[in-house]
Amino acid sequence: MNIPYSEKEKKQIKEQKKLIKWWKKSTKPKKKKKKRVKNYKGLNYTELLKTPEWRKRREQILFRDNYTCQECGFKTHLEVHHKKYGYKYPWMSPDKDLITLCEICHAKIHK
Ligand SMILES: [Zn+2]
Ligand SMILES: [Zn+2]
Repeated sequence: MNIPYSEKEKKQIKEQKKLIKWWKKSTKPKKKKKKRVKNYKGLNYTELLKTPEWRKRREQILFRDNYTCQECGFKTHLEVHHKKYGYKYPWMSPDKDLITLCEICHAKIHK
């Protein structure tokens, strides 16, 4: 038969458990953060533009440009245009090479 613990003991056990939990947590090797950039080797340009990396970058540029087409001032159907290519991934372009354009102005540029 189990001898019931006294309140004091119960408290002690609780504290110990807490300590063990904390200790285990602090000694557990930290999981390495998954690298954000996955292997995008096989992806074509259109597919690259669907990655979270590009979405984030695109959002940065849209924000910088006040969600406004830099050509005509349109505020909808916005896209981010690369003035320059040549980077491994589209989100690697520096700010100066990226510009917010509306669909229409963007299409004009690519003509
Ligand atoms: Zn473009
Ligand atoms: Zn425009």
